[in-house]
Amino acid sequence: MDERPTLFTGARLVDPASGRDELVDVLVVGETIEAVGLGLDAEGADTIDCAGLILAPGLVDLHTHLREPGFEHKETVETGTRAAAAGGFTAVSSMANTDPVTDHAGIVAEIRDKAAAAGLCDVFPVGAITKGLAGESIAELGEMVEAGVRVFSDDGNCVPSSRVLRNAMIYAKAFGDEVVIADHCEDPSLVEGGQMHEGAHSYSLGLAGRPAEAEELVVARDLALARATGGRLHVCHLSSARAVELIRRAKAEGIRVTAEVTPHHLVFTHDDLVTYDTNLKVNPPIRTTEDRDALREGVADGTIDVIATDHAPHAVEEKEAEFDLSPPGTIGLETALAAVLTHLVRPGIVPLARALEAMTVTPARILGAAGHGGPIAAGRPANLVVFHPEEGWVAEAPFVSKARNSAFLGRELGGRVRHTMLRGTFTVAEGKVTR
Ligand SMILES: [Zn+2]
Repeated sequence: MDERPTLFTGARLVDPASGRDELVDVLVVGETIEAVGLGLDAEGADTIDCAGLILAPGLVDLHTHLREPGFEHKETVETGTRAAAAGGFTAVSSMANTDPVTDHAGIVAEIRDKAAAAGLCDVFPVGAITKGLAGESIAELGEMVEAGVRVFSDDGNCVPSSRVLRNAMIYAKAFGDEVVIADHCEDPSLVEGGQMHEGAHSYSLGLAGRPAEAEELVVARDLALARATGGRLHVCHLSSARAVELIRRAKAEGIRVTAEVTPHHLVFTHDDLVTYDTNLKVNPPIRTTEDRDALREGVADGTIDVIATDHAPHAVEEKEAEFDLSPPGTIGLETALAAVLTHLVRPGIVPLARALEAMTVTPARILGAAGHGGPIAAGRPANLVVFHPEEGWVAEAPFVSKARNSAFLGRELGGRVRHTMLRGTFTVAEGKVTR
């Protein structure tokens, strides 16, 4: 924490947890928010003029690949959490496809310790559903729940066996009503070898496709299993219009499901892939304009609960390979907020408070990250972001992340992080990472 109190003055507070949207001052003393109101005065405080800026809860990412242990040439806990801080995040959830796989409590503790040592962003490791991500026997869920894990996923892989997924849901539920099984929903037998959305462009480019049905089938299966078991299901990175509709109906039916979408699926369409830009090669693939528009509508009406980055760093040489050899994934932590502000909020597709809800309070609730996501109120931990809602910039390498495989590389964005504060300590000040 910083020694002197910090007084943010004249900020527009947008706090989805409390519903507040008003001009305020915010006083932070030590690790804690001391007061929120207008005309606050604090002797000896460092004053940060926030006129024209928005102050919100620190962002929370439900889907980050930090790559450590095992793939430190792509990213580490330290570089990934630094990128997160730069993007306005105070908490991220790290996926389990590490090496060794995060399928037991020892790795969970190792990742948390590394994050604590870096002091840039809280990390909530996701545990694997199956041992070694092999899709066969269930991992040590109980041990990991005991270690504080709330979300389990084999992400990167779909859980191919319906029986295994059903058992995992039953097993997870026994460890607590809040434990979530999160699935990467693509039928492996339909997407094997696939490079992009199966459709007009995959045919004309001569690339093997990944059909939307691969997602629809697994989403439908998972919803049926969630209904049957009463377990909590989270659907990772939705990409297709029909899957959004399946989630909408399931929610109306009372099935316990939440869903997420990435900024890149909300912004791009497969038309953008005709240049063979490997940074737009992602799983599940970026699809048609109709799909993208359905995803946007899903965020607006709350069918899709969360906007999550699926930050997937790769080494430069890996992504510079030919399209069919390059690994799927885009980084996203540093551009997520700006992408959402530019492409959803500014055009009036999603209100600012709803967009921030999907990036703060809702992912924090799913993760059980009680100190994150707001509300911004006296006595709460000072986990904050302050950003300019429109300031223009171009996403360019080098990034704070070790990687540079950004779908937004070279593109103009509007909206920029000025300050990020983690428990009273600036991790970003005046747009620069502090450590
Ligand atoms: Zn995935």
